Amino acid sequence: MTEATTEQGKTLSELCEYCHGIAREKGFWDKERNVGEALMLVVTEIAEAMEGYRHEDHDNFREEIADAFIRLFDFCGGMGIDIEAEIMKKCAVNKKRPYKHGKIC
Ligand SMILES: [Mg+2]
Repeated sequence: MTEATTEQGKTLSELCEYCHGIAREKGFWDKERNVGEALMLVVTEIAEAMEGYRHEDHDNFREEIADAFIRLFDFCGGMGIDIEAEIMKKCAVNKKRPYKHGKIC
């Protein structure tokens, strides 16, 4: 079994712990993180995904989407954000919103 295969089936919280652990091992949390920079690095991964899409580089597109998630999971792990709980709370709010959230467009 490959490492990727053995790591499948993790919860979001486990992925946060896993991705944050790797980032810590690689020294990205040796100093206090700049929150704005960490958030913008997620945006850069999305921009890289867009470039992959534009160039019809499907492997790169998928890899950059993964990078964006990895950065978010790492961030949540480092900031102590219970992303499973936050997603469920926000989905409960969204379910109560009107069709297209009340927007006409
Ligand atoms: Mg990337």
